[in-house]
Amino acid sequence: MRVTLLGTGDTTGTPTVGCDCETCELARKRDLERTRFSVHVENERGGTSLLIDFSPDFRRQFLREEVPLPDAAVVTHIHFDHLDGLGNTFRLLDSLSVYAADETDPMTGESVAETVASKYDYLGLLSVEPTTPFEPVRICGLEVTLVPVEHPPQVCYGLAIEDPETGAKLSITGDTNYAISERSREVLADPDLLLADAIVPAHLCEYHPAGGKHDDSDGVPRTFGGKHMTREGALALADELNADRTRLVHVAHYYPADEAFEEPLAVDGETYTI
Ligand SMILES: [Zn+2]
Ligand SMILES: [Zn+2]
Ligand SMILES: [Zn+2]
Repeated sequence: MRVTLLGTGDTTGTPTVGCDCETCELARKRDLERTRFSVHVENERGGTSLLIDFSPDFRRQFLREEVPLPDAAVVTHIHFDHLDGLGNTFRLLDSLSVYAADETDPMTGESVAETVASKYDYLGLLSVEPTTPFEPVRICGLEVTLVPVEHPPQVCYGLAIEDPETGAKLSITGDTNYAISERSREVLADPDLLLADAIVPAHLCEYHPAGGKHDDSDGVPRTFGGKHMTREGALALADELNADRTRLVHVAHYYPADEAFEEPLAVDGETYTI
């Protein structure tokens, strides 16, 4: 499978509109971009494409990377930066299957699948496929398994995507703090490529009103506030999952400029064949 990182930024992206911080200025100077989160997965054997999340930057991402339009998609959760690009499919696609979890979110009283269906009913092209976490489904010839992760107060899902013929495996953490359950970790384990939420480096936790959480044995927080992993948390998770290769995504412009474009932080447009 061919994996294209369409969007590797957090909800404001890098550069952030109206921001003249050193990181945003450096991104402009080097022509680097981290748009809102989305991943394109192409099953080259079948010539079909699966999109993970609908970035508000959908149009720009598809023009820039020239990847095929999706045959199916997965929505991890209903935050703006992962869902609100769905309307871009209007007049581009005649039909689209969208897979999303079927568990009721106590916050909204609806599952992610139900929210997607009600919010985008007017498009008339979606068939929403309510999907049970931990139960693999076959999409575009690939085996996709949703797993609950920790993004309080809302439900959110990571996923494993495996090629049943080659055994290649892509794992995506989704938006999450470090405290992913053991059961979910088992599904995400041993990927060829891991895309892990790493919104900021741990040293920025002192600026978050909720601070950091899930400290390691050296007192380094692996969770920023409550909703996302720190860089250190994401790298610790990668280690525990035994990932062959890791790219850090959902990256904010708050990384100091001298850290923001260091390995293994991803930027838009990276491609991997696994
Ligand atoms: Zn900035
Ligand atoms: Zn989110
Ligand atoms: Zn997000």
